[in-house]
Amino acid sequence: MASSPVDTQVLIVGGGIGGLTLAAILQRLDIPCIVLERSSTHTPVGAGISLAPNGLRMLDQLGIYEKVLAAGQKLRKVQIWRNDSQWNTLDWSPCEAKFGYPVMSMERHHFQRLLHEAAGGEEFVQYGAKVVDVIDNPSEPGVKVILDSGKEYRANMVVGADGIRSVVRRCLARDEGMKEANTIKFTGRVHMSGITEPLANLNSEHLGVANWMLYDHATLTTWPCHNNSQWFIGVAKSEDAVATDRSVWAKCTEDTINKVYGEGFHPFAESGKMSELVNKNQRILASNVFQETEFPSMSRGRVCLMGDAAHSMSSAFGQGGNMAIEDAAVLANLIQANRDSLDNAAPFLTEYSDMRCKRAQDVVKFSFRFILLHGAILPYGIGKLLRWLVYAFLPASTWLWYLQWLYGYQPTVDALGTPTKASK
Ligand SMILES: Cc1cc2nc3c(=O)[nH]c(=O)nc-3n(C[C@H](O)[C@H](O)[C@H](O)COP(=O)(O)OP(=O)(O)OC[C@H]3O[C@@H](n4cnc5c(N)ncnc54)[C@H](O)[C@@H]3O)c2cc1C
Repeated sequence: MASSPVDTQVLIVGGGIGGLTLAAILQRLDIPCIVLERSSTHTPVGAGISLAPNGLRMLDQLGIYEKVLAAGQKLRKVQIWRNDSQWNTLDWSPCEAKFGYPVMSMERHHFQRLLHEAAGGEEFVQYGAKVVDVIDNPSEPGVKVILDSGKEYRANMVVGADGIRSVVRRCLARDEGMKEANTIKFTGRVHMSGITEPLANLNSEHLGVANWMLYDHATLTTWPCHNNSQWFIGVAKSEDAVATDRSVWAKCTEDTINKVYGEGFHPFAESGKMSELVNKNQRILASNVFQETEFPSMSRGRVCLMGDAAHSMSSAFGQGGNMAIEDAAVLANLIQANRDSLDNAAPFLTEYSDMRCKRAQDVVKFSFRFILLHGAILPYGIGKLLRWLVYAFLPASTWLWYLQWLYGYQPTVDALGTPTKASK
């Protein structure tokens, strides 16, 4: 009997949010897949994450939403501060009734663990598997994927879910003959992020309360997590403006963050200073902010991209992970619809790219414009005036009305049935 020309149907490069969500869906659809992840083990990553209704519905369908509810915190209110004076409080609780799901925040490594379990754990996710090349020769059966160890795999289709510095994306650009292999560019800014232990000075009134801090020199947001622990995230100009493709992750300490934000006011600190929260952190990190600058296709032949590999965006409105989940849902529907002809994946991967590009482009633009608004980055004082008008006077109902286009689109996988919450 001739052996199969491919090792698996779907090969996913990268075991982050997008790759693991897709793998979890394919497990449930009984479609063979393998995830190749370069990290040597399943390790804690990041500080916190916000999950929005546009991503939560897919997680609900996978049975993960209930676990997110147990481990995370619903966003109830957003307090907006200009230095130490409060501009506004937005009541975010109607979000759940309006969109079926709230905005949830939780520890990021916990979320990653939930996805890892849903994707079938180490049986399906191969760690220490760093992909260095992807070769899609139409005259050969399957796409060839080569690891740094020299090991090779073949699959009927390959999904590049390998994040901002995607190798798969670079291979596609090379095959396309593009001069610029990477259109995702360093913005000259750096994210600084951390998560505190539960803050003993807070009580039940503080649960679910986020604070947007607009300091004179920088902005910072604290998101409420379980038991009044807070994850904080700020964006500041990188001191190393030429760090075009290098993470500054390793260099970040409490001092790095305190140097920028430590003296700033924070309402949840007994001392009133943000440094108090930073010093109660359990894990801090920094990473460069990248953004897509032009939109190449999200597929070529039998290879496609998803998540940050396809459309990196600022984290300002917490959408990059949610968009990776959306990609997974849309792609999985097409894989399911074509499950009997996965050896001819190119046509439906083109369809996937067509379906996702516009949405991704809209969300990248929105995230960028939100940074301009949030940081008051418009000339002649217009930025400050606009920010004051929007932040001090717009009620939450107007924000939520506007966000219909973003939160109201909640792709799921038809073959998996009604999400648990929606069916209640
Ligand atoms: C500070 C910060 C805060 C954020 N907050 C939010 C938020 O609140 N909400 C939100 O939705 N988004 C948020 N984002 C964005 C979100 O983290 C990303 O958009 C999301 O992780 C993208 O998922 P992904 O699967 O595309 O990529 P990733 O999660 O980056 O996963 C890529 C994976 O591929 C692996 N990999 C890379 N190269 C290779 C290779 N050659 N071979 C094999 N494996 C490889 C990596 O190790 C990694 O595990 C934030 C980002 C930052 C930096």
